[in-house]
Amino acid sequence: MRLPNTFRQISVPVMKQLTEQELRAAFVNCTKGETKRLFVPRDLADRPWDDLDYLGWRDPQAPERAYLVTAPDGHPRGLALRCPTPSAQQPRRNMCSMCLTTPADGVALMVARKAGKAGQQGNSVGTYICADLACSLYLRGRKDPGPGARMQESLTLEEKIDRTVANLVAFLDRVTA
Ligand SMILES: [Zn+2]
Repeated sequence: MRLPNTFRQISVPVMKQLTEQELRAAFVNCTKGETKRLFVPRDLADRPWDDLDYLGWRDPQAPERAYLVTAPDGHPRGLALRCPTPSAQQPRRNMCSMCLTTPADGVALMVARKAGKAGQQGNSVGTYICADLACSLYLRGRKDPGPGARMQESLTLEEKIDRTVANLVAFLDRVTA
């Protein structure tokens, strides 16, 4: 007997193509000035939006700055994150807390300043995420995470996507709590 799936209200695909303005407006843990200045990729039209659970990127001028934006309910929400540069530390072959992949390229501790007053007081929350922010592509087999990187699971792709999105939303909620 199959148990009722509590994540089923999220439909696929998760994302629609977002503009630079929509991305900038999505950040929940940035000041207005930071939102204006932060790096946004130029190649938005070429991103595989239908296969993304979130758009993630790093600032090429400052690779310790990472960003992710998701929109599971059609309402974009984004996080500015700090993480060590890939070259600054040995990649850790740990499991990503979002997609549960253990990629050969490693996961990185990504730290988000909390939203609002808590953030101004220096509070932050962190989680391990695929260092290349490619969770969506690993889940869909569009990027090879390396040998032994995926657990054997009986879940469908859609169920794995729903779980990943639920993990993302839970992290977002910790930032805005
Ligand atoms: Zn991941």
